[in-house]
Amino acid sequence: SERIVVVGGGLGGVRSAERLREMGFDGQITILSAERHLPYHRPCLSKQIITGEWTPDDALLSFSADLDAEWRLNSPALHLDPKKQSVWVPGGEEIKYDGMIIATGVDARAMGGAPRHDPRVHVLRTLDDAVAIRRNIRQSQGLVAVIGGGFIGCELACSVRHMGRDVALIVRSPALLGGVVGDDIGKKITEAHVEHGVRLATGVGIKHWVRQPGGIGIHLSDGQVFFASCVVLAVGASPAVDWLRGSGLDISDGVLCDSTNHVVGAENLVACGDVARWPNMRFNGVVRRVEHWLNAVEGGRAAAENLLVGRKHARTYTPVPRFWTEQYGMRVQGAGLPVLGTDTTDVNGLTGFIANGKLVGIVGLESPGKIITETPELFRQNEVETNVPVWTQPEEPAA
Ligand code: FAD
Repeated sequence: SERIVVVGGGLGGVRSAERLREMGFDGQITILSAERHLPYHRPCLSKQIITGEWTPDDALLSFSADLDAEWRLNSPALHLDPKKQSVWVPGGEEIKYDGMIIATGVDARAMGGAPRHDPRVHVLRTLDDAVAIRRNIRQSQGLVAVIGGGFIGCELACSVRHMGRDVALIVRSPALLGGVVGDDIGKKITEAHVEHGVRLATGVGIKHWVRQPGGIGIHLSDGQVFFASCVVLAVGASPAVDWLRGSGLDISDGVLCDSTNHVVGAENLVACGDVARWPNMRFNGVVRRVEHWLNAVEGGRAAAENLLVGRKHARTYTPVPRFWTEQYGMRVQGAGLPVLGTDTTDVNGLTGFIANGKLVGIVGLESPGKIITETPELFRQNEVETNVPVWTQPEEPAA
């Protein structure tokens, strides 16, 4: 019988595998995962897992009882030969496939100069990372320093304050959340951090690090020095594509796909989730990756469908990306690709992002209803192809 190999046992991997079964695929499904855990919910890592509101078991995702997949945990794909349709795993074993879904996500980015091998210095991408950070915070008394003011850095700072601990948020750009949410909401988020006692240092670089027995000295370009007993580097992520070196595929910033999730230059190979880069025809075919939870669900399902029907009959994957973040009880939600915007405008109390006179993204604070009900209308004007149902019901997070 046929075998489909899913590489990556995260959200995109498990949702694509489920979709294969829903579509009636009755061959073998093998899921290769670099991690020792079954799939879990990553958004809670910077939130409920750090604060301790959830245990690691609460983070596990539920999935279909009919999946009937062969799970290979702790078993990263090491090399791919797309012509031979073979993938290699530790121990030198070669696994042949009839179809493959790549869903390897991203890895936390390293930061030059940071003492990455000091046990008090962390990144946050995996459940094990989150558990180690929480343990470090609980076992020390001093300041927690978070480097980076993106979603994960901001959420972490908020969670550490929730634990009643001192936190410094050290950010290179002048504002939190960069250009992702617009100036108005960015300002409100920044104010909330200050009001909640976060020691905020924006517009600064790190000159050097000094490791001492009692903590780590972080010397900033403006002369400030923070002395921390726990440091988390939250400076972005890079696609997990090392294993694809030598495969002949285009892996510059993720795995390059066509508009139907099929990997460019290969047969019977699709990709989804954070690692996939594809032209979204709803946005004039702009070729990007999208690092949001819902894109791993929707993209995983679309990639599975398009693998089974084959490239010739595949449908374009044209989602309106959506995301959320929670800080100090405030919920920010967004849709579209705000980063493409060159200008902002008010849209019924939401921040609209405009490029070439068209709305390309929208972000709101505490306005979930509006984002959900008004976004489909707003985005219709940008549609190039609409043969994929866009507005699927968002799946509820676990627990
Ligand atoms: P992942 O979930 O990363 O899964 C990829 C899996 O593949 C990993 O287990 C990895 O170890 C494995 N892998 C890598 N290389 C190999 C290999 N060679 N062989 C086998 N397996 C491999 N999104 C939101 O929209 N809202 C949020 O509030 C939010 N909060 C977040 C908070 C944190 C701390 C993090 C880290 C992410 C957050 N996200 C959020 C993003 C969201 O979790 C991701 O978009 C989503 O998990 C992507 O799913 P994925 O399947 O593409 O990748």
